[in-house]
Amino acid sequence: MLSNKQKRAQLQQKRAQRRDKQKADVQAALRVESMQRPKQSIAVQRGRLGRYCSYDEPRFVARGWYEDLPFVCRDCGKQEVWTARQQQWWYEEVKGSVWATAVRCRACRLARKGPCPAPASSPEKPVADQTTQR
Ligand SMILES: [Zn+2]
Repeated sequence: MLSNKQKRAQLQQKRAQRRDKQKADVQAALRVESMQRPKQSIAVQRGRLGRYCSYDEPRFVARGWYEDLPFVCRDCGKQEVWTARQQQWWYEEVKGSVWATAVRCRACRLARKGPCPAPASSPEKPVADQTTQR
């Protein structure tokens, strides 16, 4: 029969072991994430990114590569993938915001833009309306 004091000591030891194990697991996961670049990923070229003023680094910059990013379309709820190549294009070619990610599928993006630019002569629509932010 163990005394209460002994029981408590055992319990604390077990807890300490569990904490250490969790810490080790997290560190291992971080190590894996920061070292292994998946084959289909594309390396981030920091110099080509648009400027960003922040102490934080976007996740993909800290990681060092783009990888296909599954997302759900905000408008139609369809499962889509923002590919590594598309991300590279957005961040490095277009210099898009490094904090922006894809939220809409291609179909919805096109639908939002409208089928074609509005005709120049639309008398009922004041010009100011078109520049108003929604
Ligand atoms: Zn959609």
